[in-house]
Amino acid sequence: MTGESPRYNAYSKYLAGKFGGKVYKLPVNLPGTCPNRDGVLARGGCIFCDEAGSGFQCLPNTMSVKRQIDENREFYKKRFGAEKFIVYFQAFTNTYLPLSLFREYMTGACAGDVVGISVSTRPDCVNDRYLDFLQGLKEDRGLQIDIELGLQTVNYHTLRKINRGHTLAEFVDAVIRAHRRGLEVCVHLILNLPWDGGPDVVENAKLISALGVRYVKLHSLYVVEGTVLGDLFKSGQIEIMPLESYVDSVVVFLEHLDPRIVVQRLVGKGPREKVIFSNWGVSWWKVKQMIEQALERRDTWQGRKFDYLNGPALIRAGFPDM
Ligand code: SF4
Repeated sequence: MTGESPRYNAYSKYLAGKFGGKVYKLPVNLPGTCPNRDGVLARGGCIFCDEAGSGFQCLPNTMSVKRQIDENREFYKKRFGAEKFIVYFQAFTNTYLPLSLFREYMTGACAGDVVGISVSTRPDCVNDRYLDFLQGLKEDRGLQIDIELGLQTVNYHTLRKINRGHTLAEFVDAVIRAHRRGLEVCVHLILNLPWDGGPDVVENAKLISALGVRYVKLHSLYVVEGTVLGDLFKSGQIEIMPLESYVDSVVVFLEHLDPRIVVQRLVGKGPREKVIFSNWGVSWWKVKQMIEQALERRDTWQGRKFDYLNGPALIRAGFPDM
C-alpha cells in the first residue's frame, strides 16, 4: 500500500499522515438489500449489479458483524501489520434499514482500534435522522465517519440508462446534508460507462470538487453474467472503451480534480466469478501502474486544471480591483 505516485493525493498516504500508522478497512457485509432491487424503486437493480450487491469481496452476511470484523482484523494484522481500522459497511445499501437496527450495527462496530466507520449507500437513502445519529457517534467516540455514495456519473441521462433509480439532485442533496453535520463524503464514479464521453469525465471531477467532498473512488466498468449489462455486452449493443482510453480518462479526471480530494482508488477490482469483462483482462494494479506512468510521461498531476471555481470569468477578465 505504499509507493503511490506523488502526482495524486493517494489514500494510503493520507491515512498514514492522519492516523500515524497502518490503517486498513475491514469490510462488513450486512444482511440487507437495496430499494433498487426489492421493488420499492425498481426490481433488478442497476444494470451492472450482480446478486452480491457489489459486496463480492466481503465475508458472507450470515456471519455476525462482530465475527466479520474479528476475522478480517486478524487477517489484516497478520498479513499487513495493520494497527488501526476503519469498519467499512460495503455491500448493498447500508442505510436502507430501520433506524434502530442501523444504530445497533454502527454502535457494534466501535472498538478500541477502530478509528473510523465508512457507510456505503445510495444518495436517495440518506436521511437527516440517520445522519444526526452518525454525527453523535462521531462526536461521542471521536471517530472519522464517512458516507460512501454511489453516483457513478454526473450525466443524468446515463443515470437513467443504468437504472440507478435516482438522479443527480438526490446526490447533491445527500452531500449537502452530510457536510452540514461534519461527516465526510466519498463518491464512487465509473469513468468508462459506454454512454458517457469526455465532457462527462471532466464534469464528474468538477462537480465533486465544487461540492468539496473528501474522497473519490474510481472504478472501471466490469460486466458479469446474469445482469442487463451482461446481455447488452454479449449482444454487441455496447462497447467498452479500450484500456488506453480509460487511462486517458483517469488522467483528465485527475487534472480537473481539486488537489485536496483524496483518491481512494484509480481502478476497481472486478469479481472473480461469472465475469464476462473486467479490467481488460489485466490485473487492477497493472491498470493503476499505467495511469501513474501516464501522469509521469505527460508531466501532469491532480489539480493541474483546477481553475474553474470562485468566478473564473472574473479572474480571467483581470479587473484591476479583483
Ligand atoms: S444501488 Fe448498489 S446494491 Fe443497489 S442495485 Fe445499484 S449497485 Fe446494486
